[in-house]
Amino acid sequence: MDVKFKEPLPYLSIDRDEMKLLSPLDFSGKIENLGGRLLLTGNINVTVELLCSRCAENISLEVNAPFSEIFTNLKTVAEEEQEEEISFFSGEEIDITSHVARAILLELPMKVLCHENCKGLCSECGVNLNQAKCQCTEEVIDPRFLVLKKLVNLSSTEGGVSSGSAEKKNI
Ligand SMILES: [Zn+2]
Ligand SMILES: [Zn+2]
Repeated sequence: MDVKFKEPLPYLSIDRDEMKLLSPLDFSGKIENLGGRLLLTGNINVTVELLCSRCAENISLEVNAPFSEIFTNLKTVAEEEQEEEISFFSGEEIDITSHVARAILLELPMKVLCHENCKGLCSECGVNLNQAKCQCTEEVIDPRFLVLKKLVNLSSTEGGVSSGSAEKKNI
């Protein structure tokens, strides 16, 4: 039996998180009766909202996720076949939203970028470097920094620390 639906869901909840959906959830597939078990297979198409891994701006991403789950409303079947993942349901309807959410989650990339060369956020001031330029990087070539660098070099060429430890060894 063919299963097709287009569900305008604003959110899908995943554990304690929510995934914002920017398009209706489009499912097309079929359900087969395997005797006490129902096999639901198909494909999910939906556009979700994600955050750029670098700058945390919103991105929309179209996801195509394969779906395959076995359901049963017989407690005995659910308990017997523990090696297979069978989801138990009762009543007339199967709520597949948590399964759909998991299938979509599996298809999401580990990292998403708003665009290939997203400049991200400045680690100093947190400004979005795609939208604005901050002063932090310019301070690197600030003359005051050069003075500090000289001081650092001075202290390391003093050699007091190494001779001090050598003296300790003699005692
Ligand atoms: Zn970005
Ligand atoms: Zn900055």
